[in-house]
Amino acid sequence: MLVLGIESSCDETGVALVESNGSATPLLRAHALHSQIAMHQAYGGVVPELASRDHIRRVLPLAQTVFAEAGRQLAEVDVVAYTRGPGLAGALLVGAGVACALGAALGKPVLGVHHLEGHLLSPFLSVDPPEFPFVALLVSGGHTQLMRVDGVGHYEILGETIDDAAGEAFDKSAKLMGLPYPGGPWLARLAEQGDAAAFRLPRPLLHSGDLDFSFAGLKTAVMTQAKKLGDQLEARKADLAASTQAAIVEVLLKKSMAALETTGMKRLVVAGGVGANHDLRRQLDAACARRGVRVHYPELHLCTDNGAMIAMAAAMRLQAGVAEASPRYAFDVKPRWPLDALQAAA
Ligand code: ATP
Ligand code: MG
Ligand code: FE
Repeated sequence: MLVLGIESSCDETGVALVESNGSATPLLRAHALHSQIAMHQAYGGVVPELASRDHIRRVLPLAQTVFAEAGRQLAEVDVVAYTRGPGLAGALLVGAGVACALGAALGKPVLGVHHLEGHLLSPFLSVDPPEFPFVALLVSGGHTQLMRVDGVGHYEILGETIDDAAGEAFDKSAKLMGLPYPGGPWLARLAEQGDAAAFRLPRPLLHSGDLDFSFAGLKTAVMTQAKKLGDQLEARKADLAASTQAAIVEVLLKKSMAALETTGMKRLVVAGGVGANHDLRRQLDAACARRGVRVHYPELHLCTDNGAMIAMAAAMRLQAGVAEASPRYAFDVKPRWPLDALQAAA
């Protein structure tokens, strides 16, 4: 079965082809991505209207690239998948509209995919995919949650952020330091030259006894520290970046270990943009090795938004029999959509 996947929830247009045969893990045949980061950088964040318009411009040329790269024809597609939510409504409508138009033209069914399920299942695109069950740490620009994952569509949220997401904490702190948008990767790069012990920043909810997160207070502490430094900020920026990263990583690390302990599981899957962070990977690797826990990540270039994860999530849902592609093309999108609202039997 050949699945075409389209991602357009925010500022990345992604298109991919994933093929599944029998019960083996589906395989990525080709994927193409256009990031709008450069376009939005001048505004310091995503401008929704510009995002929608750019998705319209990019999506079909990207699809052509993907078919050429995979050496496949549009007519060979069995299912067209698209990101149904969560995300920016106008941006989501572009992917949904194009997917349904293609489905209707080809006479092939369509399937709306949950963006976070895409992130969650993105490690299955790796050469050494994980096996169920596992604990998942989903750390993206808009979400931070720990989940118990027993199979495709069987997701139980163990804990989540009560305010900002980890990616947001990276981005907002980076902005306070005058770094470009999105600041996460910039802050991480700067942190490599800094002293992580230079500033003592809070580790919110570290000892709360549950698996929830909070990052809003950390951002405020970074702001206070930046103000206190005044003229010194420029000279101490690397130290502040390193200290900020250390605070975020420590909380993610400790809570992930607590989730493994609570569930008794021996497998951890990390997904979402912050999963690309080297310091987080290094510390998780070390802590998991000590506990005999296997840890899986998406490939570095598939941590942030892409079409491959959407095609993969669709292929895996169909394969597991927890979703059916629909021959009805009256699409809708869900800008807000909690992951645990995805019923296995949906
Ligand atoms: P969501 O998936 O929750 O809707 P999103 O799609 O914006 O949000 P992702 O694409 O998964 O999120 O990830 C983007 C986030 O990852 C941004 O906040 C970005 O700063 C962060 N990020 C990317 N690379 C790194 C890195 N190396 N270190 C820290 N953060 C990073
Ligand atoms: Mg993005
Ligand atoms: Fe995302």
